Amino acid sequence: MYWSHTKIILSILIIPLAFSCSPKEKKEGQTYIVCTTGMIKDAVENIVGSKAKIEVLMGPGVDPHLYKATQGDLKKLQAADIIVYNGLFLEGKMGEIIQKLNRKKTVIAMAELLPKNAYINNTEFQGAYDPHIWFDVKLWKEAIQLLSEELIKTDSINQSFYQNNTITYSTQLDSLHQAVENHINLIPENKKVLVTAHDAFAYFGRAYKMDVRGLQGISTLSEFGLRDVSNLVDFIVENEIPAIYTETSVSEKAIKAVLEGCKSKGHDVIIGGSLYSDAMGKEGTFEGTYVGMVHSNVEKIVSGLSNNSKTEKND
Ligand code: ZN
Repeated sequence: MYWSHTKIILSILIIPLAFSCSPKEKKEGQTYIVCTTGMIKDAVENIVGSKAKIEVLMGPGVDPHLYKATQGDLKKLQAADIIVYNGLFLEGKMGEIIQKLNRKKTVIAMAELLPKNAYINNTEFQGAYDPHIWFDVKLWKEAIQLLSEELIKTDSINQSFYQNNTITYSTQLDSLHQAVENHINLIPENKKVLVTAHDAFAYFGRAYKMDVRGLQGISTLSEFGLRDVSNLVDFIVENEIPAIYTETSVSEKAIKAVLEGCKSKGHDVIIGGSLYSDAMGKEGTFEGTYVGMVHSNVEKIVSGLSNNSKTEKND
């Protein structure tokens, strides 16, 4: 008698408690956001902080053009409240899978939030655009501000928190943009040429006034040919470019072929390092953040291309 009585009281107490708890819990960080690349996860984190659970599908060294979704990824995508991806065909096949989830949940293509006049045309596919928008720091800042507005639409309770975070992070990106500009200006004018494995740096080149050459095209799906190698070799030798670059998410084979080609023509070019192009560094390191990846790239680019320039003295 006594027990069953308590049971009834308990269940009466529990039911209203459960109802009052669930919206509060959601507000406290139950939103589950799944991002494709590390750069996007970093952007989302800087906007929402700890208000959501954020996960990334493509880790360090992963090439988004060639990436195929695993069973685990599909489960995460299904479970997500919000999916943020780059779009403009960066994610290849996976982009198609994500688009199909559009009807069931909030799906945001971050790069596609930008106005069309911000894009660089994809020279390989007519009517398509270059998806590597993140290397123009100012443009990335703009995309983050637009992303913030989209996230606020789905989570208006946190509007002022997201807005304040976005303002704070935008200021950091303004300083980063200025720092990149200042550093790139240290490279002698005729050496401002960035040769990399694939065409990931066109936005970087436009923003910071560098000539950019990739051996493979905008997507790593297209293979490079011998003719591409020999054209690039001629260009490097003619312009006496001191350094070329591999990328952390692309095979070194292509750039090594260019290096050998230059050496056989008597031009001693060096590999100036491995740049973070379509993936960031390890989580928990400075290079595992967007700001860190840009810093690391710029340092390698400036030191490699300023290699043979003499240091001037003031006296
Ligand atoms: Zn790429």
